[in-house]
Amino acid sequence: MREESPVTITSLAKRIVGVNRLAVEKVEIEESEGENSLVIHVRATKRDRCRCGICGKKCGRYDTGNGRRRWRSLDIGNSLRVYLESDSPRVWCPKHGAVVQMVPWARHGAKHTKNFEDTAAWMSLHLSRKTISEYLRISWDTVGPMVRRVEQETSGQNGRFDGLVRIGIDETSYKKGHKYLTVVINHDTGTVVWVAKGIGNEVLERFFQELTPGQRNSIELVSGDGAKWIRETVGNYCPKATFCIDPFHVVSWCEDILDAVRKQEWNEARRKVAEESKGKPKRGKGRPKKDTAAKTSAQKAVERIKHSRYPLLMNPENLSESYRAKLQEVLLYDRRLATAYRLKEGLRAIFQLPPEEVRSALEKWRRRAWSSRIPDFVELQRKIKRHMDAIVATVTHQISNARVEAVNNKIKLTIRMGYGFRNLDNLVALIYLRCGGRVIYLPGRRIDSVA
Ligand SMILES: [Zn+2]
Repeated sequence: MREESPVTITSLAKRIVGVNRLAVEKVEIEESEGENSLVIHVRATKRDRCRCGICGKKCGRYDTGNGRRRWRSLDIGNSLRVYLESDSPRVWCPKHGAVVQMVPWARHGAKHTKNFEDTAAWMSLHLSRKTISEYLRISWDTVGPMVRRVEQETSGQNGRFDGLVRIGIDETSYKKGHKYLTVVINHDTGTVVWVAKGIGNEVLERFFQELTPGQRNSIELVSGDGAKWIRETVGNYCPKATFCIDPFHVVSWCEDILDAVRKQEWNEARRKVAEESKGKPKRGKGRPKKDTAAKTSAQKAVERIKHSRYPLLMNPENLSESYRAKLQEVLLYDRRLATAYRLKEGLRAIFQLPPEEVRSALEKWRRRAWSSRIPDFVELQRKIKRHMDAIVATVTHQISNARVEAVNNKIKLTIRMGYGFRNLDNLVALIYLRCGGRVIYLPGRRIDSVA
């Protein structure tokens, strides 16, 4: 049977705020600068009054604080702004001193209600920062502290250090590549378990120190980019763990060299064109006749190499028809680029081989790199020798490159999103929230809106 009960202002106000434990004093519409807002005057119930805003302990009253305060709640019907207004006296907590008292509708230090902050945090998992700030009518920078407060509440949610068996340690840049974060991921869940500012032994040591000896012992495999600081620190804390190298790091070493070769070839071709045109008379005004402008081979090379970066660096299976044609042309005419390209593809293919064939394939690859007469590749084959065991282990233990790359791209996207945050801790909180496998609910819809 359907039950109907008359709506009172109080019951409606409680529903709007999403908190039952409060006393509504009055509700009024306020007009300012042509915009209407709903202001709900409230006070905490006796049970919630005089509690420390930080620890929640019942304390004695200290003073009236800054008088009346306002918290913004979620808009009604996307247009009417809603505010809660209440006294905000300070209490004296034996541990925290004079602190603004706790309120059941907002987190300590927040200017928005809990349901507003939860909504913003939920949106940050799904939407762009522009959409969020436009919809909620707040600047993106204010979302940072909200994300951080929600993150802190959910941080104990999934025992992130429990059951770590295979982990990946990586450095990732922010602030346009000027600063670095160390990121630890769980390979088996594809989630971020730890993030800290900076890189190096001392930073990574802090991660291992947060683990219990049992948690450290459960780690069987660690992957990374082969950096010395990662290997050393892992060796100290998890001496029994097998070390792997994420395949995309190895391939990116080749890609960097390939791109450098491409630039060299392009500059060389341009230099030749400049030389050829030196002796020639200067062109008059107007367009040259078509037939007289037959291109020299150097000019053709410049054009060919100019737009070849993408087809050379992309995986060939993902190329469009026109890019594939472009690639074929480059490989046909530019021998040095073709050599560099085949070395890159050759190394990439090794990660698809059965484990028992990897070592001999790597040795063969090293001989090819050695005889390529491209100095950077000669150098790289030495590096491959140093990391031989780790590469073999990577294939043996089947570290999925696709998954590692997917997590990495998600982190990069999150960093770009949190770039507007002035505070690094807020950025770190956003990474945990978006990439840490946390479950965030939309207020009032706990069941059907699992993030
Ligand atoms: Zn306290």
